[in-house]
Amino acid sequence: MRFSVGLGKDGAEKRLEQNGVSRRDFMKFCATTAAVMGMGPAFAPQVAEALTQKKRPSVVYLHLAECTGCSEAVLRTVSPYIDALILDTISLDYHETIMAAAGHAAEEALHEAVNSEDGFICVVEGAVPTADGGVYGKVGGNTMYDIAKEIVPKSIATICIGTCACYGGVQAAAPNPTKAMGVSKALGGVPTINLPGCPTNPFNFVGTVVYYLTHKSLPELDANGRPNLFYGEAVHDNCPRLVHFNNDEFAPSFASEEARKGYCLYELGCKGPDTYNNCPKVKFNNKTNWPVEAGHPCIGCSEPDFWDEMSPFYESL
Ligand code: SF4
Ligand code: SF4
Repeated sequence: MRFSVGLGKDGAEKRLEQNGVSRRDFMKFCATTAAVMGMGPAFAPQVAEALTQKKRPSVVYLHLAECTGCSEAVLRTVSPYIDALILDTISLDYHETIMAAAGHAAEEALHEAVNSEDGFICVVEGAVPTADGGVYGKVGGNTMYDIAKEIVPKSIATICIGTCACYGGVQAAAPNPTKAMGVSKALGGVPTINLPGCPTNPFNFVGTVVYYLTHKSLPELDANGRPNLFYGEAVHDNCPRLVHFNNDEFAPSFASEEARKGYCLYELGCKGPDTYNNCPKVKFNNKTNWPVEAGHPCIGCSEPDFWDEMSPFYESL
């Protein structure tokens, strides 16, 4: 993947075509994004317009303490064209793991995007290690803590992608030796839009950006900083196994006849009733499936401190 600063600002649709993304594919993507946002297919042209307008802000994507799983989810989900699609349409002008530039050129790219006249949206993936001044996580000689302190306050809005950036994630699991924490907490309560998940569903991410581009404001958030649009309902409320839960039909083991029949996974540790996310509706991997449908309990990955609060994962709470 090659990637240069400013690529996404102009002529996005033409470049998508050159990269093998037809107008039809693009509109299909826009229709899915519209559906995830709770709008009908008729909203697809507005999504397309928002994603290709020349004056859209740059997106600066910072990597802090994380596994890059959320980036992988964004780039791999709708093969083979999501990379070109995302990079071009949201004007992703700085992304440490996929940009072609390195060293000083990368620093320059960051500077250009941060000072762009239309402003920039900061996306953060990963927790902020704060112990001992932040020495346990560095990029280019600077601590992640200092990078976050410098870049985040300058953005129009900060989107935390993944549970690590939102609430600390696995890095913050007890005993948390690096004192890793979510961006908002590390920076003294700065407002962030939290899109938790391990990984975040890519459509929740694109949907949030599109919401901002179409409404020029941010979506309504819940008490944990999550957009109600995507996190307003419990996983349990839309689960296809709910009928079995209501009938007291639970799978006693993964190898049981009941599991094969699709019975509820609550007794095997499912945290769906206490977890807010749209996984059953949006699914993963091009809408093919999601964990509970595939036979695995929800482990509560979009809730604060899920590593400590929702474990052991295979025991009911
Ligand atoms: S499998 Fe989980 S989410 Fe689905 S009905 Fe049972 S407890 Fe709820
Ligand atoms: S089903 Fe639960 S654990 Fe799995 S991705 Fe959704 S919220 Fe996370």
